[in-house]
Amino acid sequence: MVIVVFLSRYNALTVTSLFCRCKDKSYRTDLPVASVIICFYNEALSALLRTVHSVLDRTPARLLHEIILVDDDSDFDDLKGELDEYIQKYLTGKIKVIRNTKREGLIRGRMIGAAHATGEVLVFLDSHCEVNVLWLQPLLAAIREDRHTVVCPVIDIISADTLAYSASPVVRGGFNWGLHFRWDLVPLSELEGPEGATAPIKSPTMAGGLFAMNRNYFNELGQYDSGMDIWGGENLEISFRIWMCGGKLFIIPCSRVGHIFRKRRPYGSPEGQDTMTHNSLRLAHVWLDEYKEQYFSLRPDLRTRSYGNISERVELRKKLDCKSFKWYLDNIYPEMQVSGPNAKPQQPIFINRGPKRPKVLQRGRLYHLQTNKCLAAQGRPSQKGGLVVLKACDYGDPDQIWIYNEEHELILNNLLCLDMSETRSSDPPRLMKCHGSGGSQQWTFGRNNRLYQVSVGQCLSVVDPLSPRGSVAMAICDGSSPQQWRLED
Ligand code: UDP
Ligand code: MN
Repeated sequence: MVIVVFLSRYNALTVTSLFCRCKDKSYRTDLPVASVIICFYNEALSALLRTVHSVLDRTPARLLHEIILVDDDSDFDDLKGELDEYIQKYLTGKIKVIRNTKREGLIRGRMIGAAHATGEVLVFLDSHCEVNVLWLQPLLAAIREDRHTVVCPVIDIISADTLAYSASPVVRGGFNWGLHFRWDLVPLSELEGPEGATAPIKSPTMAGGLFAMNRNYFNELGQYDSGMDIWGGENLEISFRIWMCGGKLFIIPCSRVGHIFRKRRPYGSPEGQDTMTHNSLRLAHVWLDEYKEQYFSLRPDLRTRSYGNISERVELRKKLDCKSFKWYLDNIYPEMQVSGPNAKPQQPIFINRGPKRPKVLQRGRLYHLQTNKCLAAQGRPSQKGGLVVLKACDYGDPDQIWIYNEEHELILNNLLCLDMSETRSSDPPRLMKCHGSGGSQQWTFGRNNRLYQVSVGQCLSVVDPLSPRGSVAMAICDGSSPQQWRLED
């Protein structure tokens, strides 16, 4: 397992200790046993088997109570008889297959899996993962300490093209007011405890697919919202519910699970509905209180959109005596920017930069190794919203000079910040006014010369290295040549 090294204020110190100390950690033997639940819909059989085999190979038998596969009414033939035969022939008796008779979606699918589980802890995985060595013990240990703790592994990257496994940086979960999940850098304060970078990292939200939770607690906390369909939004819903209703959510840096990140999801919903929007609306109406206005101001078309009956979930929130969304924002995600009437006092909207300028860490050209070219503005570097492209490096040209500062911003010619839209992640990055609130303008330099955009969790890549156009775009990090950059003096 290799840990990514960044050019950032703290990682130079902590990465080596993270590397040594995860390996050196020992876990008590009386950990609770786990039921691993894997829902799948039209998954490639090979990917599903990679997931299952990695769990069987890398989990001590005494900790693995069972693996529950939930087939969400897939159409692929090999996921039926062939899968059953394979399990009978080659795999242990610990695997149960449940077949949904109609498509339920991953949210109800996980609830069905959980209802069949009998282990003390539930571990949810996507059907295209590879768990790493010692993945489960750190998760179970945290839950054993406190049954109201929900934990996620670090999600490493499996390339959808090569299926190669590579490490991800340790980041934590956030969201934006479009109710999209995003990654955030971990604040220094989280890394300064005695356990350093191996300690659980408090995370405002979870990415969704991969987490572990005490089974009784999952039930007490209201499982999921069964009115949510197919895909989307459930990860923010359960995250808000955990924190607001007395639980805790952590990322465990010593537990690593690879996941295939696909360029797009290879399925839709049965009637083509936008289930992400439907599900987000439900969660906004149940959990966001007055802050749902933040969502509606971005999506005014949704103000009057129906979202089904939420009375049971509102009732649940009352029954569990959950705190307000304002409490969540103040205490769990104080970094979140709020605009309009609910804006936090003394905080100018969207610009939280005080008079102090962030310290410059490095200054130089952003050099693309494969093409020997440099990243520059397509038009004028002062043009807001302008694209960036590769150009022949010109060593005297200030228009090719980038500043990399302690806020992880990349600023061209002292003017504009390299920015990646969080809501339309298929857009290429653009030059925008520096907003100083992280997220879309945070970049880190990592292993293999990668230039990683924190909130979308992707790497800057040259679209076609042979083309004179020099277009760039964000892509899933795979360490390939089009993704290699160096900031050079
Ligand atoms: N899934 C499912 N039913 C559905 C949609 C998805 O069982 O209707 C499964 C899917 O096979 C995967 C998991 O739910 O194992 C999460 O879906 P996906 O990987 O597509 O989500 P992503 O990782 O892209 O967020
Ligand atoms: Mn997935």
